Amino acid sequence: MTAENKKKGALGIKQVFMDAHLERTNEIEYLISKLGLEPEFVKDSQPVYDLINTSKDPILTAKTLLYITQNRGAVIRECPGTSHYTCCDYTILHTGTFCTMDCSYCILQAYFHPPVLQYFAGTDKLSEALDQTFSQNKIFRIGTGEYTDSLIWEKISQTPAFLVDKFARQKNSALELKTKTINVDSLLELDHNQKTILAWSVNTPEIIQSEERGTAALTARLETAKKCADKGYRLAFHFDPLVLYDGCELAYEKVVDLIFSKISPKSIVWISIGTFRFMPQLKSIVENRFPESIIPYGEFILGLDNKMRYFKPLRIRLYQVLINAIKAFAPETLVYFCMEDEEVWEKTMGIFPGKEGELGHWLDKAAVTRCKLNNTYL
Ligand code: SF4
Repeated sequence: MTAENKKKGALGIKQVFMDAHLERTNEIEYLISKLGLEPEFVKDSQPVYDLINTSKDPILTAKTLLYITQNRGAVIRECPGTSHYTCCDYTILHTGTFCTMDCSYCILQAYFHPPVLQYFAGTDKLSEALDQTFSQNKIFRIGTGEYTDSLIWEKISQTPAFLVDKFARQKNSALELKTKTINVDSLLELDHNQKTILAWSVNTPEIIQSEERGTAALTARLETAKKCADKGYRLAFHFDPLVLYDGCELAYEKVVDLIFSKISPKSIVWISIGTFRFMPQLKSIVENRFPESIIPYGEFILGLDNKMRYFKPLRIRLYQVLINAIKAFAPETLVYFCMEDEEVWEKTMGIFPGKEGELGHWLDKAAVTRCKLNNTYL
């Protein structure tokens, strides 16, 4: 039976494959019971790749097939920023790949060939790698949301709760769980010791409606963020990707108003902002899969990192509006750009973290202060 006409389990998953070399541990039993689907065993990933590649819409199909496997590479990696734009020196904890939600602009559609929804089993391996990190005299900001959404997994896996608990008992690392979901039930009552930052990507209701299929509405994200702040969690917000359209300036200002009508700036560790940017090969994917999408039709230029970006004066204008709106509520909160150049920083923030590692240091300081990390490691 093809994935297209199978019944759905949790997260809209229709078919589950499992690496035959894996043991059925409690972690995997939990996953399978939550999914409500029995896995088919495979000796390697080839049958999964074949099924995806031969389907009508490989990207959509990949969102409905879960492959339970092991991470055979490094569990902890440096974020692959680029040398041409200021990078934030982030560390990635590799717990899975791809996503069950479907954003038109999602880079993961073009990044993996083919994309595969993989769950990396083995909290013992995560634990070992983290112990090694926690033993260093250095501050780390670690996230699981680079190649997947951090909290889609919360519905079927205990890993997010395991990580919150693990990070609660050390003093040099902040964990950032980035999401567009409202999946926090298993985290709310945990003793997180303020070491976990729950982070929401936010956008205007119009962009969420037209470009972010299957994600939670803005008000639901913010209500959930408030619930987490009330439980003492630290928060972050990512205005990324900002999309230019008629009326966008006012619409983004309203998002800022809504955030601060619910959340105190004291709970927020940082806010990042970045306009829509993409690898040129993403354009045809968006045009084919999202014919209604407005995002491929802006005034773009090719950046030094071979990504298309909005024409710089347009980026600067929207950044100025947004930064003014944020600073009116939260003058002390660290606002930063993900991947922007000196001119943009200077014209919008009046400051540029030009020295190697400077932006990373600012972020480390914010994490130390807000998440009570050891300040002697700064
Ligand atoms: S939520 Fe994130 S990972 Fe998931 S489809 Fe959207 S952009 Fe991609």
